[in-house]
Amino acid sequence: MHTAAEAVYQDVLRRNPAEPEFHQAVAEFLHSIGPVLNEHPEYTEHALLERLVEPERQIIFRVPWIDDNGTCQVNRGYRVEFNSALGPYKGGLRFHQSVNRNIIKFLGFEQIFKNSLTGLGIGGGKGGSDFDPHGRSDNEVMRFCQSFMGELYRHIGQFTDVPAGDIGVGGREIGYLFGQYKKLTNRFEAGVLTGKKLGWGGSLGRTEATGYGTVMFAASMLATKGQQLEGQKVAISGSGNVAIYAAQYAQMQGAKVVTVSDSSGWVYDEAGIDVALLQQIKEVERGRIKEYADRKGGAAYHSEGRPWQVPVDVALPCATQNELDGSDARTLVKGGVRCVAEGANMPCTPEAIEVFQQAGVLYAPGKAANAGGVATSALEMEQNASRSKWTFDQVAAKLADIMANIHDNCAETAAHYGAAGDYVLGANIAGFTRVADAMIDQGFI
Ligand code: GLU
Repeated sequence: MHTAAEAVYQDVLRRNPAEPEFHQAVAEFLHSIGPVLNEHPEYTEHALLERLVEPERQIIFRVPWIDDNGTCQVNRGYRVEFNSALGPYKGGLRFHQSVNRNIIKFLGFEQIFKNSLTGLGIGGGKGGSDFDPHGRSDNEVMRFCQSFMGELYRHIGQFTDVPAGDIGVGGREIGYLFGQYKKLTNRFEAGVLTGKKLGWGGSLGRTEATGYGTVMFAASMLATKGQQLEGQKVAISGSGNVAIYAAQYAQMQGAKVVTVSDSSGWVYDEAGIDVALLQQIKEVERGRIKEYADRKGGAAYHSEGRPWQVPVDVALPCATQNELDGSDARTLVKGGVRCVAEGANMPCTPEAIEVFQQAGVLYAPGKAANAGGVATSALEMEQNASRSKWTFDQVAAKLADIMANIHDNCAETAAHYGAAGDYVLGANIAGFTRVADAMIDQGFI
């Protein structure tokens, strides 16, 4: 690690104890930016890096709510407003039992560079709660969301901070959150949240964007080697919003997706995942992936192991952080994998990334490959601000352009710094320089 970056990292470890995922995200970033710090020593001046790793604001609050038995439950809410150099804080809300300050900080830190890579005017932030919507009734979810917004509303706004969905937060939750924001502020401020439903300010294509964008990025990487997605065998993990639309778009491109998973197990479907059935089980019935295998002839359910044991050409981890480790990566490499694009945030461990890079596998970090979701959120904000509504094809064309630009920017940046093909280095440096230049322009704040 560059000596200036190493000093910053030691400080991060000392000042943020017991936050391993945050340390991991910062370490990956600081490892990558050495070459640009050598070329531009001004980036090591005026505590620029020290400011970058310190969130501008961290909000932690109590979320009390009444469950269906009339019992009061207490959860903890978070919003980490990490960096506003490029625009209002922007990033999702995650509702999952694993959420704590460490998780929200790692996600918020990644979001700064992801949002920068989109080329749009959005800063980085993230939030959420240790509330788990699974198994909760709609009314319980509504009461939780109303209580959560009862505090969050004073910190957000279309020009301040614009939350959206992430794990456990979809159109239903965004609806309840928006309703409460509108009631508390007496404003129909459409651009305060993204991922809204289509009838009241949502954008066509937002639901599909993260998964579609991830597959577009994988296709761009393959194209650099003269290969295409058509005819390739693909393993996907997860079965939420990102996984479903990654599977749909990969199959639209002529690939065959053979796996999906949830936290209890995974499904192998040699014939190719039936996306309509997957949508019915996950989006309509809010069921478990085991039901897919129960209903689809020829599909096998495994409660042990991970999808990565299947020999495939392309792997798209779309579940959660650190879900693919060094041993999974070695298994995938042995099985012939040639391309890995992260639909989730930080799903590959540092050891897994090293295995892929040493084996010459095309590997794209989430901050580049899954940026299509937040990019389309920014397109939703643009439509809200201009009170217009674009067609699906208009949004999809813009998404395709943005993903192609991110790919080329990462690839060209990596090549410029003598690391052709290293998308981790390319994404981190390209994301960093835009934020760093804006921070320098805006003074020591
Ligand atoms: N949660 C998504 C992400 O990780 C989307 C955020 C957004 O749309 O603001 O980028």
